[in-house]
Amino acid sequence: MTSAKPNLKEILSQALAGRWAVPHFNISDMAMLKGLIEAAAETRAPIMIGTSEGESDFLGRRAAMALVKAIRKELGLSIFINADHCHSMATAKAAIDAGYDSVHIDLSKLPLEENIAATKEVVGYALAKSPMISVEGEVGYLVTDSSQVYKQAITVPKESLAKVEEAVRFVEETAVDRLAPAVGTLHGIAANVPNIDIERVHAISKALRKTILVLHGGSGALDEQIKKAIAAGIANVHFSTDIRLAYTAALRQSLAEHPDETTPYKLLAPVVLAVKTKAMEKIKLLGAAGRV
Ligand SMILES: [Zn+2]
Repeated sequence: MTSAKPNLKEILSQALAGRWAVPHFNISDMAMLKGLIEAAAETRAPIMIGTSEGESDFLGRRAAMALVKAIRKELGLSIFINADHCHSMATAKAAIDAGYDSVHIDLSKLPLEENIAATKEVVGYALAKSPMISVEGEVGYLVTDSSQVYKQAITVPKESLAKVEEAVRFVEETAVDRLAPAVGTLHGIAANVPNIDIERVHAISKALRKTILVLHGGSGALDEQIKKAIAAGIANVHFSTDIRLAYTAALRQSLAEHPDETTPYKLLAPVVLAVKTKAMEKIKLLGAAGRV
């Protein structure tokens, strides 16, 4: 008799207890997804696939969800789909309705009371659909919104960081499964290296104990700092820009090297490999290899 595979919530709890982290990668298309699947299969790692609002609109929520769930079933991988940075109740509910495993409601730029009220509503909506759905909320905010390479240095103002008492109140009142506290990272890659406030991660983790803490903006951060953040209690790390950079660099090179090629899957083969290679690096960095 084979035992049932652990679900997303169980895997995240295992990561927290074992001081490793589940990697989260965003996708824009099938080539990106293919590279990530190959990385997960080769390293035997659990992974979360994220679609932002823009990516969800481009792919179609039901299509993205069906793809990920079909792969999970057919290949026996621990691969899950998350609606990343839903900035409204409507997009969060659309992802839950579509059958996503996880939803990230990000109203971190609103006053705390409004953020709490709306996040609480999403938690209730998800729970009514299935207790297996993992819900993430966010306190404090990242100063950069989109994942791009910035030519200038970006300073993270102290007031944007999550305060321990706010994080505790937020989790107590909303009952979210995961919390993304702003701890110094940026979305995208800046000219300077952002400094992760490890003490703050530690303090929030100590105060919340069982809540899964999520680190966004993994791409611009130093490997050593990511490791320290995991040791301090982070159990889920997002990488998007690094994967996008690997994808676009390989695609530009492939197009330049084969100007007469018209078969997309042939042009995209090196792109899949570049995404896979980059993702495997990140999986190993987080200690996620060999966990499933
Ligand atoms: Zn993010």
